[in-house]
Amino acid sequence: MSNTSGDMPEPVLVDGLKQTSPMIDPFGRAVTYLRVSVTDRCDFRCVYCMSEHMTFLPKRDVLSLEELDRVCTAFIEKGVKKLRLTGGEPLVRKNIMSMIRSLSRHLDSGALEELTLTTNGSQLTRFADELYDCGVRRVNVSLDTRDADKFHEITRWGDLEKVDRGIEAARKAGLHVKINMVALKGVNSHEIDDMMKWCHDDGMDLTLIETMPLGEIDGDRTDQYLPLSVVRADLRERWTLEDIPYKTGGPARYMEVKETGGRIGFITPMTHNFCESCNRVRLTCTGTLYMCLGQDDAADLRAPMRASSGNGLLNQAIDEAIGRKPKGHDFIIDRTSKTPSMSRHMSVTGG
Ligand code: SAM
Ligand code: SF4
Repeated sequence: MSNTSGDMPEPVLVDGLKQTSPMIDPFGRAVTYLRVSVTDRCDFRCVYCMSEHMTFLPKRDVLSLEELDRVCTAFIEKGVKKLRLTGGEPLVRKNIMSMIRSLSRHLDSGALEELTLTTNGSQLTRFADELYDCGVRRVNVSLDTRDADKFHEITRWGDLEKVDRGIEAARKAGLHVKINMVALKGVNSHEIDDMMKWCHDDGMDLTLIETMPLGEIDGDRTDQYLPLSVVRADLRERWTLEDIPYKTGGPARYMEVKETGGRIGFITPMTHNFCESCNRVRLTCTGTLYMCLGQDDAADLRAPMRASSGNGLLNQAIDEAIGRKPKGHDFIIDRTSKTPSMSRHMSVTGG
């Protein structure tokens, strides 16, 4: 169903929000979760994410904050309940707080259940209080090591102390912090126990992520790839891990660690296909909608949005895109050619 042609029903107004057709994909999955990369720029250069001398998108190609608000609102009208802002580093986008403040109206109306972000934590000392004030209650902070030198090695430009201060500010502001750690063989794999204890001592969940073959980087991914099935088996030698039904709306599978009482999540795109329950789509900062993180098919939403001030064309483009959401991804780290199976970087699609 689309509201673009004259014979289609007009959207219904509920709490001031136009309710348009909900998004159900060809496999019956309701799309209720939108991840938006608000910028491809970042103040770090993590080795698995970017090359040191990244070429960023020309500013004219990037959606304005008003356009980002408009497209997010169109998705909320179509049933998105959870919105995650990511990047690049979302908090380095100029005036990003004005957009977050504006989007918080959808939390106030109840149309949106959660507004959250994934951040490297570097700007949280500046923004934590305001984020809480805008209705943000949880943030994911990416942190791969507790060792300051190693942190600098992995992020190239990052400063662990600044991130620690950011995490502290977030917790003080009342934000629930979850730590995301990319597990890298020979880099931080020996630190997983310590990271878990550090998180659980402070009541934070830890989620481990397998490195994914997204975008050209300077190094060799086959050297870094560490299957989380191996990590889990290793953890089980020292810890009692119990499957729990806890869900945050994302792809992580959680376990409770009996000894700490804390939770550990595993995001395993490489070793486990989590696509059957996928409720997500991703929007880049240029307005390209990816229906799957691991597939190239995409829809341009910027052109239909810029073509008219009404949302008819935009809604039609969204509906067509959701109608093509694939069943699943097919990541491979090619051991012969060493090229990524996906050419775009995580900072473009958003993690
Ligand atoms: N800059 C923010 C941050 O680092 O949290 C948000 C964007 S970042 C692209 C989102 C997440 O993607 C981070 O947790 C990062 O560690 C992860 N990531 C980046 N490149 C990755 C890759 N090739 N494989 C797996 N995770 C990756
Ligand atoms: Fe920046 Fe996040 Fe990518 Fe690191 S993982 S370079 S912090 S976007």
